[in-house]
Amino acid sequence: MRDNNLMPIVDEPVGIYEDPLDLMDEIDRLKKAKDATILAHYYVDGEIQDVADFTGDSLQLARDAARVETSTIVFSGVHFMAETAKMLNPSKTVLLPDLQAGCSLSDSCPADQLAAYQKKLREEGRDFQTVAYINTSAAVKSLCDWIVTSGNAREVVEERVPKDKEILFVPDQHLGRYLVEVTGREMILWPGSCMVHEVFSLQDLIRAKKSTPGSVVIAHPECPQNILEVADFIGGTERMKQYCASIQEPTKFLVATEANMIYPLENAAPQHEFIPVPGIMTDTGETCACNRCPHMARNTLAKVRDCLKRGKPEIEWQPYFDKAREVVTRSLLQ
Ligand code: SF4
Repeated sequence: MRDNNLMPIVDEPVGIYEDPLDLMDEIDRLKKAKDATILAHYYVDGEIQDVADFTGDSLQLARDAARVETSTIVFSGVHFMAETAKMLNPSKTVLLPDLQAGCSLSDSCPADQLAAYQKKLREEGRDFQTVAYINTSAAVKSLCDWIVTSGNAREVVEERVPKDKEILFVPDQHLGRYLVEVTGREMILWPGSCMVHEVFSLQDLIRAKKSTPGSVVIAHPECPQNILEVADFIGGTERMKQYCASIQEPTKFLVATEANMIYPLENAAPQHEFIPVPGIMTDTGETCACNRCPHMARNTLAKVRDCLKRGKPEIEWQPYFDKAREVVTRSLLQ
């Protein structure tokens, strides 16, 4: 079984400078000419989110992808997300601006290793279901019983996984630990994690909190437990947006997730100030974000334009997409 998500990160040659506004106009024209819809994850650059027809978290974009009517979908995000779009809307041409936009979390759980571990557990007589976070390759999804996102994980674990089954949760150990805490269900945790959320330092966060009196910490459940323990609000990107928008009083939020999330937060709740965590704190209290996802950063306006022009790179249908599709549909769309 080929795991399409395992791709090395390589340095790219520096291209010629192109004016972002010209690129955005060109993308708009190409989008119409090529009958395409652009989906962009909250973690890609704000200017790509501006040219997109839909922006959102993994769950929202999966649902949007299933409903797209144009013949082509450009998925500005990472590989597993484009795979999900393809499996949910198979007749469409799904383009990913850079095929090497992978995901460290997805890569931490290769399909062959998961299959071997499941086999071992079964041989030991363990009666379990496998619950996978959506940040997994299609090959891994095809080996699972349920797919969850940070938005619906609690509900699936509490209401859909039979109580008499053990749970093997892959690949994010931090989200898994958080789910054990909020649902009270024991789980076998796969030892994976996201390179971006893993870098948050408790020391930096406490320092940022002290130097920003009255600030509110919002954290993604992919963050390590010590960060979640000091967070005032824990939720996936869509819930973060809703939470901040529901507060009218201007507030300073310290945001513990990928730094590009600041952009949709500012759009949804302009009355607040959003500060990325961690930051390199200067004497004046300013921070500079060092929590960008290198995979998401592979998406650029020029690559979105180029993939529209060339009709590639394309996500090709794989034999295991059928099984993965069944699991994703049952988990996220029904
Ligand atoms: S932020 Fe983490 S989980 Fe999200 S795509 Fe990047 S590496 Fe994967």
